[in-house]
Amino acid sequence: MGKPTGFLEYTRKQVKYKPAIERIKDFHEFHEMQSEEVQKEQAARCMDCGVPFCQSGTVFQGMVSGCPLGNLIPEWNDFLYHNMVEQAFYRLKKTNNFPEFTSRVCPAPCEYACTCSLNGEAVTIKENERSITEKAYALGLAKARPPILRTGKKIAVVGSGPAGLTVADRLNQKGHSVTVFEREDRAGGLLMYGIPNMKLEKKIVEEKIKVLEEEGILFAYDSEVGKNIKAKQLKEEFAAIVLACGASEPRDISVKGREGKGIHFAVDYLKSATKSLLDPSLAKETIFSAQNKRVLVIGGGDTGNDCIGTAIRQGAKSVLQLEIMPELPEQRRKNNPWPEWAKIKKTDYGQEEAAAVFGEDPRVYETTVKEFLLNEKGEVKKAILAKVGQAPLFPLIEGSEREIDVDMVLIAAGFSGTQSAIAKAFDLTLDQRNNIPTQLNRFQTEQKNIFACGDTRRGQSLVVWAIREGREAAEEVHQALLNMH
Ligand SMILES: Cc1cc2nc3c(=O)[nH]c(=O)nc-3n(C[C@H](O)[C@H](O)[C@H](O)COP(=O)(O)OP(=O)(O)OC[C@H]3O[C@@H](n4cnc5c(N)ncnc54)[C@H](O)[C@@H]3O)c2cc1C
Ligand code: SF4
Repeated sequence: MGKPTGFLEYTRKQVKYKPAIERIKDFHEFHEMQSEEVQKEQAARCMDCGVPFCQSGTVFQGMVSGCPLGNLIPEWNDFLYHNMVEQAFYRLKKTNNFPEFTSRVCPAPCEYACTCSLNGEAVTIKENERSITEKAYALGLAKARPPILRTGKKIAVVGSGPAGLTVADRLNQKGHSVTVFEREDRAGGLLMYGIPNMKLEKKIVEEKIKVLEEEGILFAYDSEVGKNIKAKQLKEEFAAIVLACGASEPRDISVKGREGKGIHFAVDYLKSATKSLLDPSLAKETIFSAQNKRVLVIGGGDTGNDCIGTAIRQGAKSVLQLEIMPELPEQRRKNNPWPEWAKIKKTDYGQEEAAAVFGEDPRVYETTVKEFLLNEKGEVKKAILAKVGQAPLFPLIEGSEREIDVDMVLIAAGFSGTQSAIAKAFDLTLDQRNNIPTQLNRFQTEQKNIFACGDTRRGQSLVVWAIREGREAAEEVHQALLNMH
């Protein structure tokens, strides 16, 4: 423990962000680093508890509490306090392949499990992780470290999201020769074409890919396995194949007028927004811009929030976000105690920005769309909203309907699993949740030497889980390769 009395002396200093009204002027990250002094104080708040719940991804009431990666949080907090950046970074890297991503986008389940948050405010664990990572980058500690020996074994990874990148990184470091096949024109999966630039600058993803390339990983872009790259070809050429292709099948809504022009899936919209930033020469008509539009976002989750932040930056005229569930309380309920994941109301950056620009929180709860009304050109112009009753059926409440004007609708209602084409290509049967099934607590699929990990195996989840899955899958593949003749 850096300073035994730290948690008594210092209070939690919140992460600093640019004011909402300023940051919406561009698509850059708006996080501001704390001063050296504050970083040290915040690290000093860690008590190095006897049982650090923060670092154990343990399941309570069906939800994980603490860091799914088992990050050695008290240890690196101590190093940060003593300004031992190199030690802190290597301790962090020991369990986390990509702290440059998690320290930006992780919802930090570790902080809900921090002992300080039992009676007060949690240690700023995610911010401390970011301080270590930024300092390490500045010191040149994150440069390429290619493996010294090569085993001669070749592995194909399908998909370059955080799960695929982790598998590739781990297996490459063990000396195997890894090729990552990606159907898009850039690597990163949802890190690149899902999470918006203001949350994770794309140059951070691109820099990391460059390091992985320097370490020997090959990336094949515009390579859709099952389409222009045949499964048979991979099976012949590679000793093992890891499917890390995400759970990108979007969940649709079935209402009258759904076919209207201007109604898009959230990820298609977010991808188009990122592409337009990365390739400004793209034809205007290929981009779904929210400029001057009245935007309706269906889905109250993080993806919906990302749509709001993006639409505001594009100059939307108004935004409204529908959430089918009731509003959550501001504080933990009695039946949701520490160290469980806290089921409380969170106001994310996009919602904060909408309130700053339009004067009110964009969310309406226990509400859904009953119908879209289209004009003579087939463009969406109005939506009929209705209040709903309780889960799981959410019946429409008669007489609660109201009509609103809309020009753009973004469906952020979640995902229904892996796209069936990839399963078909490898002769795999998807499970009831449309995930690729593997053996219990393992990554081997029903086909020999074909493994699966990340969202494609566990369903839509988080970056931190994709990294954990990638780490464990890599270990299993490595063991399988050792037993191969
Ligand atoms: C809009 C949005 C915002 C999110 N924000 C956050 C956040 O802030 N924090 C967080 O922790 N999580 C967030 N998530 C969830 C997180 O991004 C995912 O859980 C994570 O990216 C899953 O990683 P993955 O590697 O399993 O899959 P993905 O990231 O989906 O990557 C799969 C990759 O496989 C490729 N692929 C698929 N099929 C093929 C094929 N046949 N051939 C070749 N390539 C193929 C895809 O193109 C893609 O690049 C967000 C998700 C969305 C949709
Ligand atoms: S990866 Fe996420 S859960 Fe783990 S220590 Fe970092 S912020 Fe916390």
